[in-house]
Parts: sequence; C-alpha cells; structure tokens
Amino acid sequence: MLNIEKVRGGYGAINILWDVSLQIQPGTVTAIVGPNGAGKTTLLKTIAGLLPLTQGQISYRNVDIGGLSPWHTNRSGLALIPEGRMIFRDMTVDDNLIMGAFQKASRPHVKSRLQEIYAMFPRLAERQAQLAGVLSGGEAQMLAVGRCLMSDPSMILIDEPSLGLAPVVVNELFACFARLRESGKTILLVEQNTQLSIALADRVCLMRSGKIMFTKMADEIDMEELHRAYFGH
Ligand code: ATP
Repeated sequence: MLNIEKVRGGYGAINILWDVSLQIQPGTVTAIVGPNGAGKTTLLKTIAGLLPLTQGQISYRNVDIGGLSPWHTNRSGLALIPEGRMIFRDMTVDDNLIMGAFQKASRPHVKSRLQEIYAMFPRLAERQAQLAGVLSGGEAQMLAVGRCLMSDPSMILIDEPSLGLAPVVVNELFACFARLRESGKTILLVEQNTQLSIALADRVCLMRSGKIMFTKMADEIDMEELHRAYFGH
C-alpha cells in the first residue's frame, strides 16, 4: 500500500534520512520507535510532503507521491496528525474539525463526519462551540485526531500522540487507534512509548541515526534486544 524505497531527506543541506525503505500493508499498524533525533518525525513529514524528498521513491496505492505537496498527499488518502497537535487555538472546536475537510471531495460529507467524530469523542461534542485554546492536552489530541478523520483518510500518520498526556488519556487514545484499525484504516505511528506501540502494532521498526535498524512483527519483539538496539549497544 505505502511503499518507501531508499528515501533520503532532511532540512536544506542537512540530510537526516539515510536510504529508508519500508513497506506497509493495508489495514495494519506499523510503529516506528527510536531515540530522540532518530529521524522519525522527519520521515513522517517527508511522506506527508511537508519536507522535500531529496532521493528515493514513495508510492501509495501504486501512485508515485514522492515530493508531492501535503495537499496532494492528503488527496491521495494520507493524513498526518502532527507532533504537538497543531490545532487552531483561536478557532472553535467545530471550526477546527471543519478545517480538516478542506478537500473538495470532503465538503459534501462535513455534517455526517462531524456527527461521527462527536460520537467517537463525546467530550469534544460538549465543547463544540468553545475555542480550541481552552481544551486540555487530551482533548486537544482528540481534536487533532478528529480533524484528520474529516478527510476520511485511508492511511493515518500519527506523530507522538502520547506526549505530555496522563496515562488514562493515553489509554483512551490508543483504544481509539485500535478502533480505527478495526474500521480498516492503515496506521503509521511514531511513539516514544515502546510498550504502548508494541501492544497496538502489527509490525515495529526501530529507527536510529536516520536509518531503519530492523523491522519485526510486534509479537516477535524481545524487549531486551529492542532496548539494546535503541541505545546502540
Ligand atoms: P524526537 O522524538 O526528538 O522528535 P525524531 O526521531 O522524531 O525525534 P526528528 O525530529 O525527525 O527526530 O529529528 C531528526 C534530526 O533532525 C535531529 O537531529 C534534529 O535536530 C534535526 N532537525 C529537526 N528539525 C530540524 C530543522 N527544522 N532544521 C534542522 N534540523 C532539524
């Protein structure tokens, strides 16, 4: 479904990703774990078109999407939930969600999708007319998830969703990701919390220094080996 071949990319003259290759099957969850600065966010942004692809290929459902703009990758069915949520604090919860339906194809479905998202996150429904800036961290993350779902993506790229959230909220969020997978969405998740990632994922990739060190089925992961690889021992 998503096919990444020998991708290089980074920030201007600074290359961060070194020949990253990864194949992701439809309806699966792939988790990328790895230490700070490994290049996980850089990889998600490069796939989504927020950073330029300097070398290699990225295709989605057999269509070349390498180097396309975020608008075009979204139109192909990909949506990113960025690190730090990036919600519009001065806009209402409702308007934040509507912003997610910016593609022409989404517009006829705005009403029904809003209803679906409010059913999924009743706490957001209670706050639809409030400014997003007053939401708690957990509610803001739910809003970021909801906004991404407004375009009904077939694949969701999720960057560090648990950052700064209380464990009970994190569990709720991961239960929501599990339901999204059950509904047929494909998920590529970047998450520092390896235990949570492994519990949700079908496959786990360890990334370090801009490279994928290994990819394993989640149930084949040996935590000790993972931790050694994580720290490069
Ligand atoms: P973290 O969990 O800390 O976000 P990560 O694995 O997601 O880690 P990236 O955010 O992709 O790592 O960062 C990879 C490297 O790119 C780091 O060395 C970082 O300093 C560098 N980097 C990130 N953003 C920029 C930028 N805007 N300009 C230059 N270098 C950057």
